[in-house]
Amino acid sequence: MVEIPRSHPRYRSLIERERIVKGLAMGIVVPEGLLAHGRGEALDYLLGEETTPVARKATRAAAALLLTSERPVISVNGNAAALVGEELVRLSRTLGAPLEVNLFYRSVERVRRIRDHLLSLGAEEVLTPVEDVAEVPGLESERRIVSRKGIYSADTVLVMLEDGDRTEKLVALGKRVIAVDLNPLSRTAKAATITIVDNVTRCIPLLADEIAALKGQTRSELESIVKGFDNEQNLRESLALIAKRLARLSGYEEPLSD
Ligand code: ATP
Ligand code: MG
Repeated sequence: MVEIPRSHPRYRSLIERERIVKGLAMGIVVPEGLLAHGRGEALDYLLGEETTPVARKATRAAAALLLTSERPVISVNGNAAALVGEELVRLSRTLGAPLEVNLFYRSVERVRRIRDHLLSLGAEEVLTPVEDVAEVPGLESERRIVSRKGIYSADTVLVMLEDGDRTEKLVALGKRVIAVDLNPLSRTAKAATITIVDNVTRCIPLLADEIAALKGQTRSELESIVKGFDNEQNLRESLALIAKRLARLSGYEEPLSD
C-alpha cells in the first residue's frame, strides 16, 4: 500500500479507507461495506468531520444508559471491526460487556474471522451467533440470528453501521438500543433509544472515556442523565447543525425564496 503522508489534509479519512480496504483483503469486510462507508463519509463531510456538541450529549447519555444496564452487549459488524477493532476491545473491557458478531451479509467463516480478529486484539469475550443461537422475531435478514446468551438476553444493545430493520425489532423486543450512525435521517437513527450522530472512529474511544468518567456516579444520577435525553430532539439538533453549517458555507444565511 502507498504510504499516506501525515501532513495530508484528509489524512484521517484516507487512513479509514485504508483500514476498510485492509479489512476487505482480510475477509472481514464485504464489498457492500465499502459502499456503506462511503455513505458515512459523505455525511461526516457535512458534519465537518468532528464530534459535535450534540453528539457529545448523546454519548454521555449512552454511557449513563450502558452503566445502568444489567446485560449490555456490543454488536460488531465487519466495518466496525476493521475501523475500530482495538477501541471496541477497550470499550468492552471498560464496560465489562461482551462483544457479539452480527452480520447482514452473514457467513460462518466471516463471523469466525471477525471473532478471531477481535481476540487477537485482546478481547476477553467475543460471542458468535453460530452455536446456541436464537432469532429476533419478525426479522427476515441474516441479522436475525443472534447468540442466545448475548444479544437475545441483553437489556441494552450498542449497534453501529446498523440496519434499520433490526433496530426496530430489537426495540420491539423491549431492548434499549444505542446506535452510532452518521445519518440522522436513517431508520436506525429514528428507531434507536439513543442515537449518537458521529463517526465510530471518534465516538467509540469517547464513549469508553465517558463510561470511565461516569463510573463513580450513583444510579440515580445516571438515571437522571438518561431521562434528560430526548432522541428525537437530539436528531433534530444534528440536522439543524448541518443545515446551519451549510447555510454559513454557502453565504445564504437566510433561506432562498423560490
Ligand atoms: P437504515 O437501514 O438505518 O435506514 P441505511 O439503509 O441508509 O440505514 P445501512 O447501509 O443499513 O444504511 O447502514 C449503514 C449506515 O452506517 C449508514 O447510515 C451510514 O451513514 C452509517 N455509517 C457508515 N460509516 C459510518 C461510520 N464510520 N461511523 C458511523 N456511521 C457510519
Ligand atoms: Mg439499511
